Amino acid sequence: MIDAHCHLNFHAFNKDVDEVIKRSQAAGVERIINTGTKLDSSAHALQLAEQYDNLYAIVGVHPHHADKIEEEGDWVGQLKIMTNNPKVVGIGEIGMDYFSYHSNGIVDPKLQKSVFEQQIMLAYNTGLPLQIHNRQAGEDVIEVLKAHRNYLQAIPGMFHCFAGSMQVLKEALNLGFFIGFDGNLTYPGMAPGETTALSDIAKYVPLERIICETDSPYLTAVPHRGQRNEPQYVILVGQQIARLKQISYEKVKQQTIKNTYTVFKRLK
Ligand SMILES: [Zn+2]
Ligand SMILES: [Zn+2]
Repeated sequence: MIDAHCHLNFHAFNKDVDEVIKRSQAAGVERIINTGTKLDSSAHALQLAEQYDNLYAIVGVHPHHADKIEEEGDWVGQLKIMTNNPKVVGIGEIGMDYFSYHSNGIVDPKLQKSVFEQQIMLAYNTGLPLQIHNRQAGEDVIEVLKAHRNYLQAIPGMFHCFAGSMQVLKEALNLGFFIGFDGNLTYPGMAPGETTALSDIAKYVPLERIICETDSPYLTAVPHRGQRNEPQYVILVGQQIARLKQISYEKVKQQTIKNTYTVFKRLK
């Protein structure tokens, strides 16, 4: 399997990142893509990618951090320099987020939008795919993407950890995006604020458009829910997709690996 979105670049893995990577490899996870959420975590994702053959990086600024980024000066320029490294395979995680966080609430949507748009242009200028983050902002994410249709590539990227309505899903698929699922696909019921069950979303998306990921250290699949997540549990995501679609795990594994290489062309 490939874990197409996780955060071994976060503090949660400071002490044992090497063991976590080895465990994942032993479990059969052939590639791990770490995604940045700010400049420093992007740089750390890249540093890990340079250190380990099977690790890659996606660099970008998460909408939740859009309120502080202008203080960093030419942040787009700094991200652009990182993309010169061939181990950077995409721009992310970028998008919109209307969930109210304990730390800083909801970042001004205008600011989120501006930071998102600047990174769509960075992806266009570097020829890299997008890794989209959307939390309770699906309509606005789609609106921004449609407005920038001329700057999206034939395979524009993926929505990571998809959640949202069937309408948002269909629009994302129509724009050519692939759809990422995580361990929360194994959770019963619906997440607060959502209107469509993830299992229904996963059943609807053609296997040819699905990508597996973990978002480690978050969203740990059942039966490890509540513990820190690790890339090795991406296998549980694949197994859940197989169950929902009533097909073999082997088929899910082969196709989702293929899909990940299709989206992230720099992945080797
Ligand atoms: Zn995210
Ligand atoms: Zn993430």
